[in-house]
Amino acid sequence: MTNSNQLAEASDQARNALDLMERHQIPATPKNFAVWHAYLDGDNLNLVNAIDSMLASDAPFSPEQNTEFFNKFCNGNVENELKEMGQRIESAVAQVSAFMGIAVTGASQYGSSLEAFTGKLAEPQTPAGLSNLVTDIISATRTMIEVNNQLSHRLTTSVKEVAQLKKNLETLKRESTVDHLTKLFNRKWFDQVLDQSKLESDSKSTPLSLMMIDIDFFKKFNDTYGHQLGDQVLKLVARTITDCVGETDTAARYGGEEFSVILPDCSLTQAMEKAELIRKTVAGRKVTNRNTGKVLGQVTLSVGVAQYTNGEPAPDLIHRADQSLYFAKNNGRNRVCTETDLG
Ligand code: GH3
Ligand code: MG
Ligand code: MG
Repeated sequence: MTNSNQLAEASDQARNALDLMERHQIPATPKNFAVWHAYLDGDNLNLVNAIDSMLASDAPFSPEQNTEFFNKFCNGNVENELKEMGQRIESAVAQVSAFMGIAVTGASQYGSSLEAFTGKLAEPQTPAGLSNLVTDIISATRTMIEVNNQLSHRLTTSVKEVAQLKKNLETLKRESTVDHLTKLFNRKWFDQVLDQSKLESDSKSTPLSLMMIDIDFFKKFNDTYGHQLGDQVLKLVARTITDCVGETDTAARYGGEEFSVILPDCSLTQAMEKAELIRKTVAGRKVTNRNTGKVLGQVTLSVGVAQYTNGEPAPDLIHRADQSLYFAKNNGRNRVCTETDLG
């Protein structure tokens, strides 16, 4: 394809992205543009499917939804950083192996020099000849020492670089499992932990429970007090959940204002007690505007709890917890319901 063709195609795609955004009343911010441009690219199937199902449901694209699309599918930071780190690790390893090559060659050359030296020593030598031999071997030894020093210096640098890269990689790995706003685990990590917990429950024959938590009338809270205070509430709820659950439990931000907790080795009744503690604690807190000190009132939660049945697929368990959550919503909110309420 010629350059001008490429340019024309890129411009067409950019225009199409903007047209689509306008049609769906999505503000033309750089982030939103990145999302819709990637959608038209079609390479990221997860993004394409997510947007297609939004379009099919005719649901409006809220600012939160747009942000979520960007963070989930287009925020390539982690990917790029991982790629860059991979390249750096590769080059560090290549360097170390090159140093090894130099070291091996140097050592073998020095070995040959020593061998030649011993061979010549066995022959009769004039004092001048002997002096030359000694000078040569001293020079070969100095070169060897010099090369070794350089190698050891470069090797130390490479080892430090690799150690730093390893640290960065660990940080990045941790970050890729965490939700930025609430610092709870993200959905991706939740899915992995749930699969793992199912296996453990199956193999150890221990109970496993799941909680789905949703903030009540949160849209109204946002509409009344603004998105920023809404974000503070999300953080407060996240902190409360963390405080109320145990170390072996996994609390995650499941979606916008929805949270989930995986509770290994925990029966439905025990899970319900923990859910009740979370619900009560949040309902008992007065939410205040930190800037003005004004009390904004009460935030409440609805919680649905379900217990894993040996061997069932994760979506079935999630569905039962979700159904229990909807039951709680339909029965007055600010309450905990379990799958046994479903009848
Ligand atoms: P219900 O009691 O039935 O759950 O009502 P609701 O208003 O909480 O539920 P709805 O699903 O209608 O609205 C959810 C709201 O959550 C809409 C959106 O503004 C808000 N929300 C989602 N994610 C975020 C976020 O990251 N920050 C803020 N501030 N609000 C968010
Ligand atoms: Mg809600
Ligand atoms: Mg919700």
